[in-house]
Amino acid sequence: MHSLAELDVAGRVVLLRSDLNVPLHDGDRGSEVADDTRIRASVATIQNLRARGARVVVISHLGRPKSGPDPKYSLAPVAERLGEVLGISVPVAVDIPQAQAMAAALNNGDVMLLENIRFDPRETSKDVAARQQLAAELASIGEFFVSDGFGVEHREQASVSDIARLLPSAPGLLVQAEVDVLTKLLESPDRPYVVVLGGSKVSDKLAVIGKLLEHVDHLLIGGGMAFTFLAAQGHEVGGSLLESDQIDTVRGFLATAKERGVDLRLPVDVVISEKFAGGGETRVVLADAMPPGWMGLDIGPATIVDFASVIAQARTVVWNGPMGVFEIAEFSRGTALVGQAIAACPGMTVVGGGDSAAAVALFGIEGFSHVSTGGGASLEFLEGKALPGLVALENSL
Ligand code: ADP
Ligand code: MG
Repeated sequence: MHSLAELDVAGRVVLLRSDLNVPLHDGDRGSEVADDTRIRASVATIQNLRARGARVVVISHLGRPKSGPDPKYSLAPVAERLGEVLGISVPVAVDIPQAQAMAAALNNGDVMLLENIRFDPRETSKDVAARQQLAAELASIGEFFVSDGFGVEHREQASVSDIARLLPSAPGLLVQAEVDVLTKLLESPDRPYVVVLGGSKVSDKLAVIGKLLEHVDHLLIGGGMAFTFLAAQGHEVGGSLLESDQIDTVRGFLATAKERGVDLRLPVDVVISEKFAGGGETRVVLADAMPPGWMGLDIGPATIVDFASVIAQARTVVWNGPMGVFEIAEFSRGTALVGQAIAACPGMTVVGGGDSAAAVALFGIEGFSHVSTGGGASLEFLEGKALPGLVALENSL
């Protein structure tokens, strides 16, 4: 794989795939960026390229537009914010022909943005030929490709993997940093190695558990996914999040953990409520004594202490998924306190997942070694799967 530093970009047009998929809201000036974390994170590679005299054409997606251009998903507000951060104007090309013309007129150090790449249905098409055709059109805009959208590296998409086979390509600084951290976790984690899993995307994350059981010393499970485990142990889980079709799989995990000597821990107590909202009555009950009809919405205080004691002894901690419905104050303690315990651990500490990162920001928790920008991509990496975007970089010109 080439490195970014190896590409001789001075005076050349460089196509840069970033992940500028930020939340928008309506502001005084129409649609505005609500959270610019991903924009600020993308600036390091852009500045590296500018400083070396490159002419930068940024490609990104925003949301999931259904069919063709849709002003709701325009990158125009993102270009404006990016321009503010960089202190230059960042024009937007509405399509590839316009991007070709604008790119030809760029000066060294200039930056422009191509409108939402998902306005072109070929970007995410299952039809390889269609994707390759779009990739070829994109490649015609510039001479190099830099892949910096870690959150999309696990996707087989025109602007992620197909284009990297057509131009001399390298990972950007963000992707390089992610790959370095995740490779260390996959290949040589310092032990004890603790993984803390939670959140609501149960079936997505169950896939990673099988693989993690081969690597970790302790697996701490909270959040919505814990209830499928508690149900697999035969406990009542009331109206809690439950994937009943996964119960057999989860029983298998419990058995595997036992065989391999992995310390798999579930909540010993939970915070329950009759409604999925704040302001109602809440109770703390033992995890094996949930009353029917009530929902488990956070881990309880004894579980927080238990999880924190394991985390304090760790030399590596990976955290993916909030411990409860942290968006509602009554159910946020588990996430805030487990997050603080992880941040305070002197070992290597890594947070992955969009909502986990949002929780970290919301509670102002600092001190992690690394906060990953891509939840799905980082989990697939830790499962040992090859990510199409990275494979393409290995095979680039
Ligand atoms: P991430 O984005 O960090 O990977 P997920 O998307 O899997 O995390 O899950 C985040 C969501 O999980 C949050 O919106 C949170 O409210 C929800 N959640 C956590 N615990 C529970 C629970 N016990 N019941 C329902 N939802 C939960
Ligand atoms: Mg999420």
